[in-house]
Amino acid sequence: MICGAIDLGGTKIEGRLFDANMETVLTRRIPTPVSDFDAFAVGLAEQIEWLTTKAGKPSLPVGISLPGWVDPATNEAFASNIPITGRDVGAVLFKRFGRHFPLMNDCMAFAYSEAHGGAAAGAKVVIGLIIGTGMGAGIVIGGEIPPRFNGLALEIGHTGMPARVLVEQNLPLIPCGCGKNGCMERYVSGTGLADISKIKLGIAISNEELSRRAEAGDPAAGKVLDDWAELTAEALVTMQLVVDPDCIVLGGGLSNITGVAERVTLAFERRKLGTTRIPAVRTARFGDSSGARGVALFALNKAGERH
Ligand SMILES: [Zn+2]
Repeated sequence: MICGAIDLGGTKIEGRLFDANMETVLTRRIPTPVSDFDAFAVGLAEQIEWLTTKAGKPSLPVGISLPGWVDPATNEAFASNIPITGRDVGAVLFKRFGRHFPLMNDCMAFAYSEAHGGAAAGAKVVIGLIIGTGMGAGIVIGGEIPPRFNGLALEIGHTGMPARVLVEQNLPLIPCGCGKNGCMERYVSGTGLADISKIKLGIAISNEELSRRAEAGDPAAGKVLDDWAELTAEALVTMQLVVDPDCIVLGGGLSNITGVAERVTLAFERRKLGTTRIPAVRTARFGDSSGARGVALFALNKAGERH
């Protein structure tokens, strides 16, 4: 057992121990203490303690992923649904354990994992796009996490969906939880796809059922997935024009739709700018545990660099 990960979420803090092949050996979940920061810090420290005890190694590299970010200028965290906003989590852990633990956005951790031995192995500029309940992305350049001013991941979910595709599909500006209207997340995420199904089919239908119907040859369901692929391709074109990656890895619940990478690639080809070559679009190799794998591997690699 060589490294560990802590995945912070609004409902659970999950500890995960990896062996030398980066295979999961053990996991343990505890409910996230949401009452206040002190209770949360106790729960987090307890999970780190569990990992080091199980590994029999007090210096076990442990990385921590969070659905938010840490400002590199102040070390203050920002996350919704977890009571750590404005807090220096690293300082509290240093006081308790006498060492540093890398804290990383969960989408960045996902991109790091897929760039190192995953679906994007060998690519130079990798974007990992998670399309689950929400939508977010991480970026890895030359195998490293690039420095960023605010410590933001690629917050593509809260950029605006281009008007050209909304007009083309006769879709409204859907309000987003962030306070703005027409955010990409509201069309591309699992929640977004369910809303589009409702608008286009006139019935509430789960994404799993939509996918089943499309696979069975239902043309209306297939059309909804094609329309969703056009919207998703617009998000990918936007990222390409800003970052120009050579590989985009899809993760999260919607990446499990049969043939999703092919469907999005076809739409991307139709919507790309001029003669640009589009990046490889692939689905994640390490599934739901990819983010935990990424942050654990990052902690392991950084520990190696220090010695
Ligand atoms: Zn938004």
